[in-house]
Amino acid sequence: MSQIAFIGLGNMGAPMALNLLKAGHRLRVYDLSAAAMDKLASAGAQCASSAADAVLEAEVVISMLPASRHVEALYFGAKNSPGILGLIADDALVLDCSTIAPQTAIQLASAAAERGLSLLDAPVSGGTAGAAAGTLTFMVGGLLNDLERARPILSAMGKNIFHAGSYGAGQTAKICNNMLLGILMAGTAEALALGVANGLDAHVLSDIMRQSSGRNWALELYNPCPGVMDNVPASRGYSGGFGVDLMLKDLGLAAESARTVQAAVPLGELARNLYALHSQQGAGALDFSSIYSLLGRKAED
Ligand code: NAD
Repeated sequence: MSQIAFIGLGNMGAPMALNLLKAGHRLRVYDLSAAAMDKLASAGAQCASSAADAVLEAEVVISMLPASRHVEALYFGAKNSPGILGLIADDALVLDCSTIAPQTAIQLASAAAERGLSLLDAPVSGGTAGAAAGTLTFMVGGLLNDLERARPILSAMGKNIFHAGSYGAGQTAKICNNMLLGILMAGTAEALALGVANGLDAHVLSDIMRQSSGRNWALELYNPCPGVMDNVPASRGYSGGFGVDLMLKDLGLAAESARTVQAAVPLGELARNLYALHSQQGAGALDFSSIYSLLGRKAED
């Protein structure tokens, strides 16, 4: 069992860290939110006073932060805090599970390699339910040897572990997946809102589409219409889950990624604009399935 530093205990990080504790690992955790750390402390984790404090004596370092700028500040340092890259033990394994720009992941990996550290980009899919159940999918970028070293740790948090390619490839795979997710959630919300505006029962329409050619992940596991499914953000006021602003960030990463190779991503751009509009109207902190309320309101006008 390993001594693990876990940094970032939000909607995803907290349940992932809990699964590592359940698997018998020793955790020293850090988050800017004291409440987030308290929850882990009551499950047996040690609380660190800073990220630098968390990584001391860690054999494995895991970060689960919102975006590229948070990951850069953590490892390379920001105005008032030194980066942790120089503090991590020489033989430690570093896993960044945040969804960030592939370019940032590559910069981080090369800085880590200069120090002789093993580092992987290992973003996840499966949502908060997958994080709690320990069934996440990991999309890993980096060296195969390092992935084999990481496998027992990743297996405690997920059930599908893919090697996407070299450094940054895990992030590229994740960005492609989330562009599709953003599009399919908006499309599913639009179809449901159209049916409801025309007098259909949302349960009945969801059942029909789930058994028809419109079938998809949102209809099966994450219905965006309130009341259709238990235990999804739509049925608890769109709280928890995957924030609109995080989806907006991922669609922005997809747009940047498309520009670098001059790819056309018209549906991804359209989805990005929809989530940007939704965020501007105050929904940034709600779960991304709340895009239903943007499209639903329009259908009722
Ligand atoms: P979140 O906003 O719920 O949690 C982020 C946590 O990081 C917060 O607790 C925050 O306090 C903490 N934090 C921020 N800066 C910090 C710092 N410098 N030091 C320590 N802690 C810091 O986000 P989340 O939903 O857990 O997502 C985390 C990452 O996983 C994101 O990159 C997201 O895109 C990705 N992701 C999320 C989901 C999902 O369903 N929520 C699914 C797959 C991937």
